[in-house]
Amino acid sequence: MSLPSPTNRDARLFTPGPLTTSLGVKQAMMHDAGSWHSDFNARIRWIRERLLAIAELSPVEGWETVLLQGSGTYGVEAVFATCIPPACRVCVLANGAYGERMVRMLEHLHIDHTVLRSPESEGPDLSLLAETLAADPTITHVAAVHCETTTGILNPIAEIGRVVKRHCCLFIVDAMSSFGAVPLEMESTGIDFLISSANKCLEGVPGFCFVIARRESLLANAAHARSLSLNLADQLRGFDRNGQFRYTPPTHVLLAFEQALNEHTAEGGVAARGARYQRNHEILVAGMRGLGFQPYLPPAVQSFIITAFHCPSDPRFTFTEFYQALAGRGFIIYPGKISRAETFRIANIGHLFEADIHDLLAAVSEVTVTLGFNPKPPAELAR
Ligand SMILES: *Cc1c(COP(=O)(O)O)cnc(C)c1O
Repeated sequence: MSLPSPTNRDARLFTPGPLTTSLGVKQAMMHDAGSWHSDFNARIRWIRERLLAIAELSPVEGWETVLLQGSGTYGVEAVFATCIPPACRVCVLANGAYGERMVRMLEHLHIDHTVLRSPESEGPDLSLLAETLAADPTITHVAAVHCETTTGILNPIAEIGRVVKRHCCLFIVDAMSSFGAVPLEMESTGIDFLISSANKCLEGVPGFCFVIARRESLLANAAHARSLSLNLADQLRGFDRNGQFRYTPPTHVLLAFEQALNEHTAEGGVAARGARYQRNHEILVAGMRGLGFQPYLPPAVQSFIITAFHCPSDPRFTFTEFYQALAGRGFIIYPGKISRAETFRIANIGHLFEADIHDLLAAVSEVTVTLGFNPKPPAELAR
């Protein structure tokens, strides 16, 4: 029996990961790799070094990339579980679901924390952050999300970093949905721990995450680690010892990721990938506005990664019908996650190009007519 070979005929994913991958990335997975084999270990080493290069860092200056099995959430939780010693307090800046997820991790790990919340459509209040850090010397770490995928808001990491460093705290950044496409200078921004994963802007398939940090920061509090499998210090020591993951690595995912990194380089790195996403985003927003849909965020804080749109107020609109009609035409969009507004989301990352966005817009236009709704949001929301 002959099996179908991978094609690019799958439905296109307008979602923030898993996302549409290239044919090359899918084909790279069609091999079995022995995780003890020296060839495979050399590939892991190369991946770790490439990730540092994308972050414009060097192992010579003490930086390391630790790869960890699991999705992005595991990486964020691993930083908290490994790198926060007892009697420390973490200040979390939250303006969406991923900031709130950090808070839940800290609760589970019994780590003291302070939460500074801002509305989902606004960045953090930096003077409140400065006051909070000045007033409470027990705060030792600040955690923030770069692109809050809940809304697509891009938080001002450099400005936050300046406040964090002025108060001598360590800075933990969830750059899950931005790393590889939105430039972020770790050293000048004062980021001590950056977390991202294989299946976002680097366009690999899901299965592992990674943490970029200084070797000394990763190892400093290893004795107090609150988890075995999420222990980044032990994971790093494992790579030191024999070049291997401590426990079964996602071998196929790593082969796919190696190819994804080669394609990232061939495209022109962070700048070129960001430029493609930016174009995708501009075409998407102009087209959706043209059809009568309204983005949730003001353009000044909107990233070019994912866009939340207000659900139309027309009672003939339901997200489920809209989603199904688009899915039937080969386009997968994403539900909303915002607590205070009815929205749906469209991401434009992944192996998607201008033509794909135009195809999606044509399908949205068609579906709007077929389902017979007016795309406008409630009048009081229209900007
Ligand atoms: C995707 C994402 C995560 C991780 O989510 P997983 O489902 O664990 O992959 C964390 N933070 C942000 C901002 C994300 O976009």
